[in-house]
Amino acid sequence: MLAALQLFLDKRQADGLLRQRRLLDSPQAEHIVANKQAYLSFCSNDYLGLANHPALISAMQQAAGDSGVGSGASNLITGHHRYHDDLERQLAAFVGRPAALLFSTGYMANIGVLGALVGRGDAIFADKLNHACLNDGSYYSLASFHRFAHNDVQALEALLKASTAKHKLIAVDAVFSMDGDLAPLTEYLQLCERYDAYLYVDDAHGFGVLGEHGQGSLNHLGLNSPRIIMMATLGKAAGVAGAFVAAESVVINYLIQTAKSYVYSTPAPPALSATLSASLKLIEQGDELRTHLYGLIAYFKMHLNCQKWRLLPSDTSVQPLLVGSNQAALALSAHLQAAGILVPAIRPPTVPVGTARLRISISAAHSLEDIKKLLQAIHQAESELPP
Ligand SMILES: *Cc1c(COP(=O)(O)O)cnc(C)c1O
Repeated sequence: MLAALQLFLDKRQADGLLRQRRLLDSPQAEHIVANKQAYLSFCSNDYLGLANHPALISAMQQAAGDSGVGSGASNLITGHHRYHDDLERQLAAFVGRPAALLFSTGYMANIGVLGALVGRGDAIFADKLNHACLNDGSYYSLASFHRFAHNDVQALEALLKASTAKHKLIAVDAVFSMDGDLAPLTEYLQLCERYDAYLYVDDAHGFGVLGEHGQGSLNHLGLNSPRIIMMATLGKAAGVAGAFVAAESVVINYLIQTAKSYVYSTPAPPALSATLSASLKLIEQGDELRTHLYGLIAYFKMHLNCQKWRLLPSDTSVQPLLVGSNQAALALSAHLQAAGILVPAIRPPTVPVGTARLRISISAAHSLEDIKKLLQAIHQAESELPP
């Protein structure tokens, strides 16, 4: 087996697909120290610049002082602390749903929720560009799994029409993590009503950024329905860690009994929840941050003037510059890195073969100066790299 593993690694290296971890020696921020070098970074999902916010650092220090550092037991034994409970109620109120449930990570939430809500005899309908953990949750659920072309409402409707499944669940990213575009959730909700289906929305990249006061993609689109089960992660715009699911109380009560990644797992430390309560306040009061962020995104899109590579259509923090081949994407990323700017090259299997790209992630922590530096470096790379 070990020889087979080595063979796999050698092939990944030869194909330009070997992933390397960078060693970070600074907090996550727009200026980071990675592999002992200082960089201007467009890599993080910390879209509001909260991951290193002084108010949140002191909230975590203080909460650790009065609640300790570990949860110590699973939620259904003695692990469910008042800080967890407070945060769940605050999150539910913030997104305008009856109830919410915390998970340690978004990955655990998707696996737990899909595994609990549907099973044999049921069906999940999923966008082909969904995040990997929605796929994993779907396989794990044992429901039949139907994928449709990216944002293709008609293809989805044909699948729903043909389905004889007992329960039908449409599961999609709200903002696609490697593309930055939004799912047509309004149309999906109409299909749910027409075909008695439910909508599971993963808002990892919309929560905190889109909608009134950062309530997320559903609020941005004016959607609310008992048919919607929303999930959002708390390690991206919220700047900390974890995830929550918000839905009708019956759904949340059912998940508390049956979502295995909830029941059989130790919750994140209560101090993280207290920190997230403070983060939620900053998100709610963060209209200026969001206005600054949207300004930077608009400036970047307006001033990027590039023939060789194409910016995919996105109005969110995720701005993908489509390059094509793995090697060309790596070369562009390396060229920017030599200029002191980190932008990750995203390659298969994270994105479809032949669509390797630079995933430029813009944060409210960036300044206009930072965006200008990035633009200049991309324009310079275009003139200096071989065609
Ligand atoms: C990051 C991400 C997740 C996973 O969330 P974690 O909290 O990082 O485990 C799930 N879904 C989407 C769309 C994501 O981008």
